[in-house]
Amino acid sequence: MTFSNDRSRIEESDHQVQQPRKALIVVDVQNDFCPGGALAVGKGDEVVAPLNKMITYAEEHDWVVVVSRDWHPSNSKHFQKWPPHCIQNTPGARFHHQLDYHGAEVISKAMGDNEDGYSAFDGFTRDGQGMSLEEFLSENDVSEVYVGGLATDYCVKATAIDSVYRGFRTHLLIDACRAVDAKDGDGERAINEMKSEGIDLMTTEEVLRG
Ligand SMILES: [Zn+2]
Repeated sequence: MTFSNDRSRIEESDHQVQQPRKALIVVDVQNDFCPGGALAVGKGDEVVAPLNKMITYAEEHDWVVVVSRDWHPSNSKHFQKWPPHCIQNTPGARFHHQLDYHGAEVISKAMGDNEDGYSAFDGFTRDGQGMSLEEFLSENDVSEVYVGGLATDYCVKATAIDSVYRGFRTHLLIDACRAVDAKDGDGERAINEMKSEGIDLMTTEEVLRG
């Protein structure tokens, strides 16, 4: 009797142990950042194919998948620095039509009039009304994060650095991001900065090989 009680207690506690999970964060793969968009990143659409492979892999391995989006009000002060882009509910703010994000959690960011919101960690679930990205990842027991998307020298960099500062083991998917390169070499400098912050650089092929 005593033995069987002990045994069931052990099984119960075993059951409660949560395995740390991984998350894929796809940053701002929106029409305005792709060729033809209001703030196009050169070859920005080339991130879609490797990111779709990553999304499939992540779903097969029970990762958490997050897609962030710039979701600006039309009167944002951000547009004093940049051409207007990714205005809420406009075609430019939609995700690239080939991005296979439909099972992912959407994080909306930069919704304040005065907000740059480069980092996905500035955003929230449920059209910006829900929990922060950090809360969402914690709630899902995530300890390790993989980041790709647009653009390397702005939102990808800000997201990856925020991630590492918040204690997540962080990887940058170097073949699945592209830079604005407003000044020549910005993308390369951003990658070096991320590396010096302790972010690990990987290709999607390396992740898919396991
Ligand atoms: Zn923006």
